[in-house]
Amino acid sequence: PRTAIIAGNWKMNYGPKQASSFASEIVPALDGLVRSYARIMCILCPPAISIAAVKDVVDAYVAPRLELGAQNMYFEEKGAFTGEIAPGMVRELCDNVILGHSERRMYFHETDDLVNKKALVAFKHNLRPIVCIGENLDQYESGQTEQVIQEQVKGSLANFSAEQAGQVVIAYEPVWAIGTGKAATVEGAGKVIHRIRELYGEMYGAEAAQALRIQYGGSVTPANISEFMAHPDIDGALVGGASLKPDFVEIVRKTI
Ligand code: 13P
Repeated sequence: PRTAIIAGNWKMNYGPKQASSFASEIVPALDGLVRSYARIMCILCPPAISIAAVKDVVDAYVAPRLELGAQNMYFEEKGAFTGEIAPGMVRELCDNVILGHSERRMYFHETDDLVNKKALVAFKHNLRPIVCIGENLDQYESGQTEQVIQEQVKGSLANFSAEQAGQVVIAYEPVWAIGTGKAATVEGAGKVIHRIRELYGEMYGAEAAQALRIQYGGSVTPANISEFMAHPDIDGALVGGASLKPDFVEIVRKTI
């Protein structure tokens, strides 16, 4: 069985001060949960400027399998790229990086090609990429989900070595379910996620597909997490809004 990963994507919320005090609120309980249950991993992804503040809080605990992640990074190693953060800089504080979130794709025009470039660089720095994919409302309503998913999987997850293929995490986030309070049904999300695993198997073989962790994201709450986790293909969640509240601890608790 695969270790489940519950990740909290704080998006553009909580500067260093608030991040530190919120982390102090939830980390003691998270530490207790991850220490008791070896089959779960938890990742906090604050805004880049707040990562160090959250790390200070986490470092005061044993917290095995309680890790940090960035929400984005650039693919160049360093230099004249004003406003960007290099992979090596992320690596100093984090073990994970979210790549290709739909908000990055939508507002910052990130393409599958760019996401793929970033993923390949993440591996080089020993960062675990959490690559986000998912169809938008138009695509969903016009029955293009399968096609969109296929394009994104093939484009964003291309050219991995066998070892890299076993390390990636995919977050399936239907855009219409993000921040809307309207989560996908378990059946619907499960079907797409199963298809993602199949596609991945066609690219990297059955073993990599079996090892691949695929999260569901989109309006996950303490009320619906258990249903999602009961699906054999769903290996955790990428949580937005509910990760900004003590609800996040409840979500982790209910994953167990
Ligand atoms: P919500 O949980 O707020 O719907 O956000 C999901 C998400 O985009 C996580 O990356």
